[in-house]
Amino acid sequence: MFKRFSSFLPLALILLLAACSSTNGGSPTASPIPTTTGAAALPQTGATLDPQVDFATNTPLPESGEEAPADSPTPPPTDAQAGLPCTGELTPPDQEGPYYTPGSPERTSLIEPDMSGEPILLTGQVFDADCNPIPGAQVDFWQTDAGGAYDNAGYRLRGHTLTGPDGGYAMETILPGEYPGRPPHIHVKVFAPDGRELLTSQLYFPEADGQPPAGVPASLIPELGEPDEQGRREARFDFVVRN
Ligand code: FE
Repeated sequence: MFKRFSSFLPLALILLLAACSSTNGGSPTASPIPTTTGAAALPQTGATLDPQVDFATNTPLPESGEEAPADSPTPPPTDAQAGLPCTGELTPPDQEGPYYTPGSPERTSLIEPDMSGEPILLTGQVFDADCNPIPGAQVDFWQTDAGGAYDNAGYRLRGHTLTGPDGGYAMETILPGEYPGRPPHIHVKVFAPDGRELLTSQLYFPEADGQPPAGVPASLIPELGEPDEQGRREARFDFVVRN
């Protein structure tokens, strides 16, 4: 009996070793790699995010919280863009004549109750040679009445106004009357805000028969509009002066 068992023992050991080997055999189990998933999900301190880009135009999209510019109204055009007549060409000077009286009152209208004549509104802007408006400039007018006479004793049909922030001015008056030997005209001086005289000139108006004034620079003839409901016409004229 023992002899039969001893002959079987080596085989049993071999089988046992083979069984143990197969239990741990095959490829070794890989150790799990520690992940950094948690750390990677955190925002990186100091990181700068790339802006969102509209790939159609290759331009950055507005960041969150910023109003999209779509359909925003077009900004108002500047004077230059609006095509106003300032080209930087200086307004030509013209003679002062013998009837200038300094110290005229500041007014918005030279018309007085007993005054006859065709009313006009002189209006425009004062620019420097670079077409920048000159706010606070003084525009001083003097002229004849409808009968062609100057008031050399007082300030009838004499007065000045100051330009606004856009260099604009407006002065109500009447068309000047017939004047022997010269087209109807209104004298003007422009002073800088600091009082420097920048221009002495004249504005010319149609003759009594409606013909345009002859023998004067076209650049000194205001653009006359149609009469409004009160019969007043706008006479537009921009001054360009070397400031
Ligand atoms: Fe005159």
